[in-house]
Amino acid sequence: MSLDEQKIKQALSTVMDPAIGADIVSHRIYNGVEIDGTKVLVKVTIPTPAYPQAQRRELTSRIETALKGAGASSVTVLPEVVTAFQPAPSEKALLKGPKNVIAVAAGKGGVGKSTVATNLALALHRHGAKVGLLDADVFGPSIPTMLGPPERPPGTTAEQKITPAIHHGIEVISVGFFVDKGEAVVWRGPMVHRLLQQFLGDVMWGDLDYLICDLPPGTGDVQLSLSQLIPITGSVMVTTPQEVSIVDVVKGIAMFEKVEIPILGIIENMSFYTCPACGHHDEIFSHGGGKRLAQEVGAPFLGEIAIDTRIRFGGDAGVPIVIAAPDSAISQNFMNLASTVALRIATTVLGKPKRTPRLAVIK
Ligand code: ADP
Repeated sequence: MSLDEQKIKQALSTVMDPAIGADIVSHRIYNGVEIDGTKVLVKVTIPTPAYPQAQRRELTSRIETALKGAGASSVTVLPEVVTAFQPAPSEKALLKGPKNVIAVAAGKGGVGKSTVATNLALALHRHGAKVGLLDADVFGPSIPTMLGPPERPPGTTAEQKITPAIHHGIEVISVGFFVDKGEAVVWRGPMVHRLLQQFLGDVMWGDLDYLICDLPPGTGDVQLSLSQLIPITGSVMVTTPQEVSIVDVVKGIAMFEKVEIPILGIIENMSFYTCPACGHHDEIFSHGGGKRLAQEVGAPFLGEIAIDTRIRFGGDAGVPIVIAAPDSAISQNFMNLASTVALRIATTVLGKPKRTPRLAVIK
């Protein structure tokens, strides 16, 4: 039986990507084929460095089965990792460098938003992605404390551009580098907007796969300004399981919907506590609220994070748990959450029609 590209594409359109959950032809995972008689080489695009290894093997095996069923005698799958992203509309071209921006938000303070943002950023970096972390919590920037002393401090170039600090291999900018905390608390909306506009446009981010943006809690001026200034790919909402935290999250979700930022999903932090001495499992703040909330608002539930002293200690000591104890179960949990978030972005982007950047008119 002879094979041609048409036949191959037809066979591959029945293959579901195990991580994306859609067929590999319509979602642009399939990226071309070379045919030599009945020998086939299939090129696939892995849409995020955080694509799990086990699912990569599963993808290869599904492609092999489908093509052997179509008459191929040998099948080689050639993967290439290219992070999926949607080019920004030209009115939001303020941000140069990052392909995807992930806003980490929470309805109220103290639920572990900054902890989650930091560990997610570091986990994505451990997966091999190029990552930046923007601490946009104007009123209480905590990222510099959580990350400890930088390998490279922030700087300015001769052209008065800002170069991010480097902490544990990721690029970091905090509003805390530029403003005094006491000064910022009295700021009103227009001042916050001007500050963000000025410094976001001046930061020289590298060619990043993901920029994680730690927002202040609630639904205020910073969230609105950021959504107007930069193209936010999607938001991750952090909540604790109890009712009062959840009510605030609902307000946060409503705000993101209003400014048309997709909700990537909800993470429940401080879900349960397992005593390291006796193994007793306790649900201090109740349990399952995040999942129920996700169902109610129709958003994906991304996962839960236990209460663990090492998480708090890592944040206080400037060495987050993902770096301090990379082999621990809790770090593995952050690695899995990072994959889930990155895959949600890939699914969202690849499911949309391709948008090409508009060209500027040169006069
Ligand atoms: P937010 O950004 O929502 O205000 P933080 O990330 O600053 O919250 O976390 C508040 C405090 O709770 C910090 O001391 C942090 O180390 C701690 N914390 C956050 N998540 C956990 C967790 N899962 N287990 C233990 N302590 C945590």
